[in-house]
Amino acid sequence: MYETYRDLPPIQVTTETTVDMPTGTWRTFRPVISAERCTRCYSCWKFCPDLSIVVQQEGDYPYVDLFHCKGCGICANECRRGAITMEREPL
Ligand code: SF4
Ligand code: SF4
Repeated sequence: MYETYRDLPPIQVTTETTVDMPTGTWRTFRPVISAERCTRCYSCWKFCPDLSIVVQQEGDYPYVDLFHCKGCGICANECRRGAITMEREPL
């Protein structure tokens, strides 16, 4: 383990998996996918930096892993069909 910051490598790294971290608690807006508009092109899946768009099998509609999704809105920005809207989380 690291004793001081001087022991850290010169780049930012994590030594632990973030799978068990509920990063979705940071979110103020959540992506909502409209099945009526979605063409299952999976651009949202490709661009999500958190791997929070889930496609179980090819041909399925994507859904959002809300345990990890931080609400950055990249998926909504990348969806050319306008099938993803960012909705405010309840306070
Ligand atoms: S980018 Fe939009 S149209 Fe494509 S799979 Fe995602 S929600 Fe559906
Ligand atoms: S809002 Fe951001 S983190 Fe959440 S599913 Fe979309 S791209 Fe991924």
